Amino acid sequence: MEAKIWLSSPHLSGEEQKYVKEAFDTNWVAPLGPNVNGLEKDICDYTRANYCSVLSSGTAAIHLALILLGVKEGEEVICSTFTFSATVNPIRYEKAIPVFIDSEKDTWNMCPVLLEEAIVDRIHKGKKPKAIILVHLYGMPSKMNELLHVAKKYDIPIIEDAAEALGSSYRDVAMGTFGEIGIYSFNGNKIITTSGGGAMVSNTPNYCQKATFLATQARDHAPHYEHSHIGYNYRMSNICAGIGRGQMEVLDKRVEARRRNFEFYKQELEAIKEISFINEPEGFYSNRWLSTVLTDSYETREKIRLSLEKENIETRPLWKPMHMQPVFNSFPSYNNKVSEDLFKRGLCLPSGSNLSDKDLHRVITGIKASFN
Ligand SMILES: *Cc1c(COP(=O)(O)O)cnc(C)c1O
Repeated sequence: MEAKIWLSSPHLSGEEQKYVKEAFDTNWVAPLGPNVNGLEKDICDYTRANYCSVLSSGTAAIHLALILLGVKEGEEVICSTFTFSATVNPIRYEKAIPVFIDSEKDTWNMCPVLLEEAIVDRIHKGKKPKAIILVHLYGMPSKMNELLHVAKKYDIPIIEDAAEALGSSYRDVAMGTFGEIGIYSFNGNKIITTSGGGAMVSNTPNYCQKATFLATQARDHAPHYEHSHIGYNYRMSNICAGIGRGQMEVLDKRVEARRRNFEFYKQELEAIKEISFINEPEGFYSNRWLSTVLTDSYETREKIRLSLEKENIETRPLWKPMHMQPVFNSFPSYNNKVSEDLFKRGLCLPSGSNLSDKDLHRVITGIKASFN
C-alpha cells in the first residue's frame, strides 16, 4: 500500500522553531509574550485589519464575538447552514437560537435573497435577529456587497467566520475585515496552523481589546484579583503564537500552492462530463483551502470517494448542512435545497500545500480509474 495522502495536513516552513526557541530561551512559556504580540501585528499587517486578538481557537473567537455583540439567552442569531458545526456551537453556548440560511449556487455561501426573507420573517414573528454569522466556505468569499447591503438595511452586525478563508479576498479586501468582527482558525488542517488556535480581527476599536480582556479571565485593574465580568481562559500561548509567526511568513506561498492544486485538478478532470468545478466570480479571490468537485449524482460521488479510499487517499463529502444535523434540526431554517444538493454530490479532494506532483497524479489516476 502506498503512503496515505491526507485531505489537508500541517505544512511547516522551518521558520517556526526560531520563534519557539526564542520563547524557550527567554522563558516566555505562557499565554502572553512577544510572539503573541508579534502574531497579532503580523495578522493586522497581512489583512489590513486595525485590531487583532489571538486566541486558543476559532471557536473561542466566535464565542467571544457573540458575547461582545451582546447576544443573550433566547435571542436569535442568523447563521449559514452550509458550514462546520463550530460556527454554530457558540450560539448554543450562550443559549441563543440559531436561524439557518441556505446557500446560493455561485459561491455556495449564504444567499443574500434568503437572508433578507428570513430577517423580514423573524421581525414579523416578533424577534429581530441580534447578529449574522456568515461563512466563507472552503476559502471562497461570500457575496459581500449584497450581504452587507441587507445587513446595513436592517442594522444587524455581521460576524465573518473566515476560519477557512485567511488569504482570500474580495476586490483586494481581506475576508474577515468586512464585518463588525472577523475570525480565523489556525487548527492543524487549516491554511496555516499554530497546532491549534484562532484570532479575532476588527476595524472597530475596543472589540479585540475586550476579547483579550475576556480571554484572560476578565481581571479588572487592581493589585489583587478583582472581577466584574465572567472571564474565559481563551488566550493563545506564546509557544503556539511562535509557530504562527513562522507560518505567517509563508502564508502567500501556501495560498499559491493550494490554488495550484485546484488548477491542476480542474485541468486534468474538466473533460469528464460527470465532474464540475466552482469558479471564482469577478473580483473574488479564494485561497482554495480545499479543492472541491461537484459530481452529477450521489452515486458518482460515492464511486469516486470509495475508489480513492481503496488507494489510501483521503477525501470527504462536502459539509452536511447544519439544518440537517440531529443536534440542530429543530431550529428555524430558510432553505432552497442548494446546500442539501451540494452535500449529496460534492467531494473535497486532497488539498494540502505540501502535496507532491506524484501525490496529485495519484489522485487523478484514482479518479479516472473509478470511471472505467
Ligand atoms: C475550523 C473551523 C472553525 C473552528 O475553528 P477552530 O480553530 O477549529 O476552533 C469554525 N468555522 C469553520 C467554518 C471552520 O472551518
